[in-house]
Amino acid sequence: MAGQRMVIVGAGQAGSDTAAALRAGGFTGAVTLIGDEAAVPYQRPPLSKAYLAGRTDAAGLELRPEGFYGAHGIERVRRDPVARIDRDRAGVVLASGRTLPYDRLVLATGARPRSLPVPGAGLTGVQALRSLADAEALRRALAGARHLVVVGGGFVGLEVAATASGLGVPATVVEAGARVMGRTVGPEVSERLAAEHRARGVELVLGREVTALEGDRRGRVRVVELNDGRRLPADVVVVGIGVLPAVELAADAGLEVGGGIVVDARLRTSDRAVYAVGDCARFPSPYAPGRLRLESVQNASDQARHVAGQLCGAPAPYTAVPWFWTEQYDLRVQIAGIVRAGDRRVTVGDPAGRFSVLCFRDGLLVGAESVNRPADHMITRRLLASDGPRPTPDEAARPGFDLKTWQAPASAQAPAQPQASTQAQAPAPAPA
Ligand code: ADP
Repeated sequence: MAGQRMVIVGAGQAGSDTAAALRAGGFTGAVTLIGDEAAVPYQRPPLSKAYLAGRTDAAGLELRPEGFYGAHGIERVRRDPVARIDRDRAGVVLASGRTLPYDRLVLATGARPRSLPVPGAGLTGVQALRSLADAEALRRALAGARHLVVVGGGFVGLEVAATASGLGVPATVVEAGARVMGRTVGPEVSERLAAEHRARGVELVLGREVTALEGDRRGRVRVVELNDGRRLPADVVVVGIGVLPAVELAADAGLEVGGGIVVDARLRTSDRAVYAVGDCARFPSPYAPGRLRLESVQNASDQARHVAGQLCGAPAPYTAVPWFWTEQYDLRVQIAGIVRAGDRRVTVGDPAGRFSVLCFRDGLLVGAESVNRPADHMITRRLLASDGPRPTPDEAARPGFDLKTWQAPASAQAPAQPQASTQAQAPAPAPA
């Protein structure tokens, strides 16, 4: 291991965590972390929430203090992005022409926002929210904004709308689908979120698409035009219509790509010296058929630690339970597992208050979507990770069912015995 050179491309959550986990695992060779942003690697989830609301500053977002990297012998390369990967020579070539040789390469290149394919998408005041620079620009734009239009009612769009509403900026969300967050949660949670947004004064326009953006003479956005002819006034427009995995470097280097950088169960690309982790990686998972590409801190962080562990000598398939979260107003939505259309859904709790939707495939618990029911979320994650028994859909559907009765000691493989419980659900705050 000594004398080996690890090069990590991408200094987001996955890249920074890979570097840190290599050192935590005792790796003594060279570690180089290459990012295209100047900032110290930072957390993204707060960009649309605490940071946008002004409750934290850029320093509060740092994944690790700036001094951490030097103190642990991690070389950070900034403002000199990777131009190409030279697999024949096992090196990455930077824009400056500098070449960094590697023994193992980890691609943590992340994803980029999809842009809106309509006229006017380049007007001033129209932007995505992905990077710290995006969030800084949006924070400035929202101060004094008269009307925000958000395109896309997914994670980013709804979080921005909630924050803007808290800042007193009137907001309209335009979502092409029939319901908000349709990609990630079922109708029960969509409805709960939609009701909360509407109660807070956010207008939701569902099943409509933007056909054009119009600007004033100075090129500032003024109007968002929809496919039903409606014209929404706007001085700030946030486009949150999903992201595309950053696969170009991998593709140009001849690695297998397709909906992400394709990796095996050990997160290795089609070149055994090259791994991919985080938002860019498409991997086989025990939790869903085929391959998955997930956009979450959990996935970035767990895959980073997993690859670092393998590079430190512990080869194993990646099997971490996927989970996600979003926070809007005082609703904390947590999702455990990979839920598919067609799974049987059983709601426990109050769909207008705190509740969870437990999801079953072929009678087996495969996931849960929870609104302010953190215990259900945590227990589901533990059940999915274990081989022990799980509740059946019929049990879950019985009046008085409480998932807490399935709470197993974290370490035990032994199944928890279901038992009567009258414990009240504790409310809980917490993130993605
Ligand atoms: P993000 O991470 O950007 O929030 P999501 O996939 O969670 O990504 O949400 C994106 C949302 O944008 C989805 O609900 C999708 O239906 C919606 N969407 C995609 N294209 C358009 C469009 N052209 N106009 C409006 N909404 C769109």
